[in-house]
Amino acid sequence: MENKKKINLEVADVEIREQRLGTIIGWSGSARELSKQSNTSCGRQGKGECQLCEVKGPFTQGSVCSEQMVECQAGNVRDAVLIQHSPIGCGVGQVLYNSIYRNGLALRNHPVENIRIICTNLNESDMIFGAINKLEQSVQDAWERYNPKAIFISTSCSTAIIADDIESVAIKAEKEYGIPVIPLYCEGFRSKHWSTGFDSTQHGILRQIVRKNPKKQKDLINVINLWGSDIFTPILAELGLRVNYVVDLATVDELAQLSEAIATVGFCYTLSTYMAAALEQEFGVPEIKAPQPYGFAGMDEWIREIGRVTAREELAEKYIKKEHERVKPEIEKLKKKLKGIKGYVATGSAYAHGLISVLKELGLKVDGSLVFHHDPIYDSGSPKQDSLKHLVDNYGNVPNFNVSNRQQFQFYGLLKKVNPDFIIIRHNSLAPLAAKLGIPSVPLGDEHIAVGYQGMINLGEIILDVLAHKKFHQDLKDHVKLPYTKWWLAQKDPYILSKKPELIET
Ligand code: SF4
Repeated sequence: MENKKKINLEVADVEIREQRLGTIIGWSGSARELSKQSNTSCGRQGKGECQLCEVKGPFTQGSVCSEQMVECQAGNVRDAVLIQHSPIGCGVGQVLYNSIYRNGLALRNHPVENIRIICTNLNESDMIFGAINKLEQSVQDAWERYNPKAIFISTSCSTAIIADDIESVAIKAEKEYGIPVIPLYCEGFRSKHWSTGFDSTQHGILRQIVRKNPKKQKDLINVINLWGSDIFTPILAELGLRVNYVVDLATVDELAQLSEAIATVGFCYTLSTYMAAALEQEFGVPEIKAPQPYGFAGMDEWIREIGRVTAREELAEKYIKKEHERVKPEIEKLKKKLKGIKGYVATGSAYAHGLISVLKELGLKVDGSLVFHHDPIYDSGSPKQDSLKHLVDNYGNVPNFNVSNRQQFQFYGLLKKVNPDFIIIRHNSLAPLAAKLGIPSVPLGDEHIAVGYQGMINLGEIILDVLAHKKFHQDLKDHVKLPYTKWWLAQKDPYILSKKPELIET
């Protein structure tokens, strides 16, 4: 362990990202400049030290919150139940997350079923008199209806305002039912970025589900992911390793064995940073400190580091050689077909760094990217995991590199400036705007598509398919009217309202 104990599992609430990592949600410049600032004494801050110079907007057009990330993680544990202690409005995400859960189960060959999330449906009178009784009743209902192996309870802005004591309810229920009952503090206004919700779920699992006296399993490797297809099993089987996928689609027992694994990896450091660092700190499960597994540069180093940490170096080298020989001719063919095409990535932060690497391996031009937040550092503190620096050092600069938490009005200006042939997107709410500008989207619902050597081929082929829709999108562009004023459509700087908020009045 290269750092002193940083993650505090003694208390029920997680330390938010902006305090732990110096996370920002607004920035405009180039990838190289952001990487440089993140690595100076100014950017690489600890608690109380100075932060990256964030561009702060005067309003938020729309976004998501930490509670929703808890829904899509704790709510996707197969034999658990999540209780949202909230008004029903916070529960609207259940519709989307049910469809994602069902698709994920089908992708991984599990029986397809509905999500198990219960909302306590707080009303005006609950906001005045408190709603502990409703929460207790919901915990009892969850137990009687589903016989779960664990119950998660998530907070919301409303329950934070009225300060309902959910921890006491959880402690009492845990004794009564004999299963982990886990409070997750994730109210939307708690953190400026929704990724704190990932950390909150992982914090609760680490405290109350993960086995405290692990029996080590020398061939088990944790893969922290979402609901993507099972691409890690065949890759890691080449090194004689078995995959333990967490958190989404895992069972409570699979979460419990996190402490028994030989190492931890992830497809994206935005998602995995907290859990992986805490497993190393608390249980000595090493986090693989390497670039993410994207493109030749990242994948080679990633596999080599797994080989080194798990004492499987020879198998790692054999796999690298075999895969280089297999995919390089295919990638050369794709490069010819994609020559002169310009791509744009609009996804979560570390994931975007990986995807841009893949686009550059395919010979595509990437002049711009939008990431939904930026962490100047991840929880391990290791420079080997600096995904933005890895991108810039290995694949060059991205001149228009912007941080914005999914603000549609800004996205219009960002795309207009770069005018790409297609965009890659994961959070679909921005895709319709791109379509109205004549730009087709690659919607990466399956987050594993671009991982590893085969991932470069997968992504190249999907891009070719999507480019075939260009004419359809041009037709859309010719027949739609954007909902913005002429003044805004004529603005050159998408961040002008952050720099001059007085313009809103005029
Ligand atoms: S927790 Fe807060 S921000 Fe999140 S959905 Fe509910 S009210 Fe909205």
